[in-house]
Amino acid sequence: MRLEGKVVIITGAGSGIGRASVKRFCEEGATVIGCDIDVEQLSSLASECKELKGKMIPKKLDVTDRTAVQATIDEIKNSYGRIDGLINNAGVTRDGLLQKISEEDWDMVIDVNLKGVFNMTQFVIPVMLEQGTGSIVNTSSIVGVYGNIGQTNYAASKAGVNAMTKTWAKEFTRKGAKIRVNSVAPGFTKTPMTEKVPEKILAALEERIPLKRMGEPEEIADVYLFLISDESSYVTGQVIGVDGGLVL
Ligand code: NAD
Repeated sequence: MRLEGKVVIITGAGSGIGRASVKRFCEEGATVIGCDIDVEQLSSLASECKELKGKMIPKKLDVTDRTAVQATIDEIKNSYGRIDGLINNAGVTRDGLLQKISEEDWDMVIDVNLKGVFNMTQFVIPVMLEQGTGSIVNTSSIVGVYGNIGQTNYAASKAGVNAMTKTWAKEFTRKGAKIRVNSVAPGFTKTPMTEKVPEKILAALEERIPLKRMGEPEEIADVYLFLISDESSYVTGQVIGVDGGLVL
């Protein structure tokens, strides 16, 4: 098993890519702490993971709530003594053309997608530095590199995530620590997040993708798995596109 003995935190664990990742990581023997604001989804996921080799521990957590983030990380450290992986996967969209984005929609997307990553990582990093090892994956998007009409707030948040990834890849390896930080930039992936996109737009999009289809959440989970596992021991500071070739 590729993750035996590893303790990994995944945010946004209840749905879509996060949910597929929790299952994949459990199959590979990890202890996964699945964090989400949606407790119902977490509890159904915990039941689905019962038969798998690893262990899934559901935790209700809003990544924008710094006090709760700190308490949760302290609890995980006390219970397991270590944190090998962190996947900052929780994310939201509030789309609209620039003229129509409210201040509330701006704040919401930046709070979850950008500050949430800052909050989680700031409280996890002391644990990893103490161990001298760790792997962090930040979920970005192709939109964070190339932009997208109607996604000013989302594009800004994901570009910020990529900038933090590169900064942390430099910062966390000072003094010889082996802590790697990478971004994964999914293309259009079949999850509740893309269910809102009209059928006609999705069909046109699929036509533009060289692999001629949307991605499956499991295909993103497999890249998370590679980056958290020791198989990627020489990969850090990268933004890895998983998009069927869309941005070629
Ligand atoms: P999703 O909507 O299916 O799942 C997101 C999960 O995050 C939900 O379970 C939700 O409850 C949780 N969440 C929302 N706010 C939270 C908060 N404050 N604290 C904790 N959890 C919170 O979305 P998905 O498609 O699985 O997206 C996962 C990640 O992938 C996101 O960061 C998203 O931006 C990114 N992404 C998705 C696509 C895509 O096409 N689906 C493309 C590029 C990037």
